[in-house]
Amino acid sequence: MRRAVLGQTRGFARHAFAERDLSNVIPPYATLIAKLSQVRRHIKRPLSLAEKILYSHLHDVDSLAGLKDIRGSAYLQLKPQRVAMQDASAQMALLQFMTCGLPRTSVPTSIHCDHLIQASEGADSDLTRSVISNKEVFDFLESASRKYGIEFWPPGSGIIHQIVLENYAAPGMLMLGTDSHTPNAGGLGLLAIGVGGADAVDAMTGTPWELKAPKIIGIHLKGQLNGWATPKDLILHLAGKLTVRGGTGSILEYFGPGVEAQTCTGLATISNMGAEVGATTSTFPYTKAMRDYLRTTNRAAVADAADWAQAEAGYLRPDEGVEYDQVIEVNLSELEPTINGPFTPDLATPLSLFGQVVEERGWKDEVSAALIGSCTNSSYEDMTQVADLARQAKEAGLKAKVPFLCTPGSEQIRATMERDHITEVLQDVGATVLANACGPCIGQWKREDRKDEENAILTSFNRNFKSRNDGNRQTMNFLASPTIVTALAFSGKLSFNPLVDSLEDANGKPFKFIPPQGSQLPEKGFTPGNTSLYPIPSPEPQPEVDIKISPISTRLEILEPFSSPFGSHNPRGLELPPLKVLMRVRGKCTTDHISAAGPWLKYKGHLTNISENLLITAVNDEGGEVNLAFDHDHSQGEAPVDTIPKVAQRFKARSEPWALIVDSNYGEGSAREHAALQPRFYGCSVIIARSFARIHETNLKKQGILPLWFVDEADYSRIGSGDTVETIGLEDLLNGKETSIIQLKVTKRDGESFVVDTKHTMSGEQLKWLRAGSALNHIRAINQT
Ligand code: SF4
Repeated sequence: MRRAVLGQTRGFARHAFAERDLSNVIPPYATLIAKLSQVRRHIKRPLSLAEKILYSHLHDVDSLAGLKDIRGSAYLQLKPQRVAMQDASAQMALLQFMTCGLPRTSVPTSIHCDHLIQASEGADSDLTRSVISNKEVFDFLESASRKYGIEFWPPGSGIIHQIVLENYAAPGMLMLGTDSHTPNAGGLGLLAIGVGGADAVDAMTGTPWELKAPKIIGIHLKGQLNGWATPKDLILHLAGKLTVRGGTGSILEYFGPGVEAQTCTGLATISNMGAEVGATTSTFPYTKAMRDYLRTTNRAAVADAADWAQAEAGYLRPDEGVEYDQVIEVNLSELEPTINGPFTPDLATPLSLFGQVVEERGWKDEVSAALIGSCTNSSYEDMTQVADLARQAKEAGLKAKVPFLCTPGSEQIRATMERDHITEVLQDVGATVLANACGPCIGQWKREDRKDEENAILTSFNRNFKSRNDGNRQTMNFLASPTIVTALAFSGKLSFNPLVDSLEDANGKPFKFIPPQGSQLPEKGFTPGNTSLYPIPSPEPQPEVDIKISPISTRLEILEPFSSPFGSHNPRGLELPPLKVLMRVRGKCTTDHISAAGPWLKYKGHLTNISENLLITAVNDEGGEVNLAFDHDHSQGEAPVDTIPKVAQRFKARSEPWALIVDSNYGEGSAREHAALQPRFYGCSVIIARSFARIHETNLKKQGILPLWFVDEADYSRIGSGDTVETIGLEDLLNGKETSIIQLKVTKRDGESFVVDTKHTMSGEQLKWLRAGSALNHIRAINQT
């Protein structure tokens, strides 16, 4: 059944599993080491591992010359080696990439269909249904992958981060992924950073990718894990200590004897959930467990090359005497299982105290479902530990008391579980094995029970915001290790502590679990399973392929390049044309205010449709109302006020370019290219702010919007909707004059006019983007010459 289902879904993947070409997986260690010695000419102090990897991927190592402070202050222009994208975020990234006219991606890139797979009845039927309902998205991603030489992992192949760990991650590399849990690959001692689509497009087009040099937090691991404590418990414990913001702007670099004892997939779990404390990423020195993992996953040549890089220049470990910005010590021997939640991943409670918390909070002492999986805990090792408990329970005649859902992380894990009778054991105790995909972790759980009812679930996942799994805001979601989740599935009680509590076996006698054992790697090696789910490694681009986008699609739309504001149509030459002010936005305006998520996510690949959410939760400072804008030039029959996107649409229809006035830290929040694309789509040319969030400011520049900062923040209140602004001095800047000031002539609606000073942060390269209409237009122009 499984093979038939998958065969129907595609008909394009084929793979020779044993003849794996690793040429684009092995990092260019000799080049990186040579760069590292150049780095040492500029930085004369011991380097951390993260610094070695970052600085040896600089576009220009000499940019470090003369810098006194780097960590936490310098901006680095980097050359990542690889990009991985999941099916939701890949859509707009690919649509943008298509506009730049390149025949192939500049770095090896892979696409993974995992987020759009529903979890309901079980692997095969869920997969069939999801493939049908998302066919146009999968067809688009697959055809674009063929055209540009991207490795395409179809529905059913597995979760992006597990596949990256099993196939692409290599010690010492720098890679980007369009997903927050990209750091999972750090389990193999590299830097893997989660980014927005526009950043991925930088790497895919060979444009230097900018990152503010992170601070480095050293996590010193001593002792060793005992009994029920797992790597998951370490990161749950750390999340409690650091909180959801504690790692912001930092890389977590683990060191000490406790690292050596961890398995590779255990390290990946730890690294994965570094995202929950806001860390840029996490990494570990190269260990024997990593070497073993590489060899068992068919990458012996990567292990050999990594061994050489470490022996040759100590490239894969920190220097002796390195100083971290902060050091946190954890004694693994003292660590106990931990449960985090509900509703936030940093609310950590040691298991021994959890029963007391359940009582104090008055929560019903009942688990309503237990779920194993997600990218953070779906490895072979996780599944063997869970199966060990299931086996013990089976021998005692027990079955799971609540729905028990298990998700393998990849096709090779699924197939190896099946061969090694792990699936059988899980099913014997009542578990449902779901498709190799994100499923319930991303809200694709078609849960039929407990709708709108308070209840508690336990998962081995990484995130537990309200409604994330089943859409029910009253579902309390607790995070724990796979083994604790499993034990509680058999007890059905939230307060159960398998370290001390017993259950009753089938004969009414006390039964106590013994601490679970698992194996990092299968004794007989991995079996690939359905080889049609694997892409051809390093595929050649097929320029003749037509990318499949239906003209009547509501989810996908070809992205038309934005036009340059300069040229014969602009009588002001290299100054921007006169711009009408659309509105003055009051207060906090995050990327979520600019481009809301939720139900809009299905339009991520359709700029016209998703733009209808532009600024819909922003506050208009002229009146204080949400999602309301004034149209002072409305025609007869049009209302003088309307929603913000509707007024922006009117400006676009009138071919009237416009400006936006915004408050402080405009565009904070998660990097979201839609928040820059959408205003540009409706004709925005300039955004003038009291201040910008750095990443969003760069995203605006990429889309051809000029971000300007008020020199005097009080000028914010002097400009309102319907006023006209004209730049003075932009022409000089574009002609090479070095000036940080651009003036704005403001003409009020009553004819009064005055001039305000603004600053800019445009580099020479970014001015070229502005002149071309967008960064991608500039790349296309270079490519055509
Ligand atoms: S399993 Fe969950 S956390 Fe991991 S990539 Fe999928 S949705 Fe994100």
